[in-house]
Amino acid sequence: MANRFAHIYIEEQAREYPLTRKILANFPNAIQIEIKNYRHIFHRANQQFLIQKQNPSLILAVKLGALIYQGSQECQDYRNPNFYYNTPVLNCIYDCEYCFLQGKYQSSNLVVFVNQIDLMEAVSTEIDRRSDRSQPLLLALSYDTDLLALDNRIPLLEDWISFAHCSNGLLLEVRTKSSVKSIFSQIKPTKNILFSWTISPDTIIAQYEHLTPDLGKRLSAINSALQEGWQVRLCIDPLIYSSDWLKIYGKFVEKVFSTLSPESIYDVQYGPFRMNDTFYKRLRKLRPESKIFKQPLSQGDKVISIPIELQKSMKEEMAGFLENYLPAWKITSWN
Ligand code: SF4
Repeated sequence: MANRFAHIYIEEQAREYPLTRKILANFPNAIQIEIKNYRHIFHRANQQFLIQKQNPSLILAVKLGALIYQGSQECQDYRNPNFYYNTPVLNCIYDCEYCFLQGKYQSSNLVVFVNQIDLMEAVSTEIDRRSDRSQPLLLALSYDTDLLALDNRIPLLEDWISFAHCSNGLLLEVRTKSSVKSIFSQIKPTKNILFSWTISPDTIIAQYEHLTPDLGKRLSAINSALQEGWQVRLCIDPLIYSSDWLKIYGKFVEKVFSTLSPESIYDVQYGPFRMNDTFYKRLRKLRPESKIFKQPLSQGDKVISIPIELQKSMKEEMAGFLENYLPAWKITSWN
């Protein structure tokens, strides 16, 4: 990340937050530009997402309005009725060809909201109001970014971990593809945090998950987290179809469990490629040559996905691979 964020835009009202000072200290050579409202930069029309991706700017802002959202059952844990997500950061330093953020935002600049304390207070309110009190509130902290990948220079996680540790009735999921390990030995593990690693075969990583660590590095980081006593979920999502997908994913599952001890894994989630159809149309315009579009795909109710019959057989085959290592109750496919 050393060469990224040569320019940092700072909202007037964000200037005095301690997190702003902390982040600015980590980018001493960046050019600082004061702005009135992050939306004027981030939501400007006619931005070039992929060109910006090569040299993104950082925007420090104060989040107003909604601070927590009820999660869609399409994207996550339908077993938990108290599923919520929030967006402490918008956008990601990685560049996955299938990423929904390309469809969601015009800009690939990274926005960090420096009033994290307000986001935490909103979570506390929802914990108290959750509908099913027999289960914790499940909060996805990082669908719009990869907080662990940012952590060395944009350190938000420690505060969220402390917050989760002190919050009864909260399970906080941190999704990542990162290979950062340092945090696991520096902070005491807590059962209220679930680190959720998206892992893919190396051929998929090389083809689609640009700028991300390879599988070996991710597995090594996962092992560090497990050894320090953290809970780890594995996400094999999206499954990408190709004529030899069975061979690719069969070998991949073998490699994963020759490195990780299956007993130590919290659970595994997987799901074939799918995307909101509006985002998909934008993605097609951005990356018309991507092999993502070589997969057989069909239109459903506002979703583009692998056709149902093929999805069914992919899910069955993956369940078969995974059940060689894990009990069925630890394996969930996206429905
Ligand atoms: S790691 Fe996740 S959020 Fe980041 S670019 Fe890839 S798919 Fe998008």
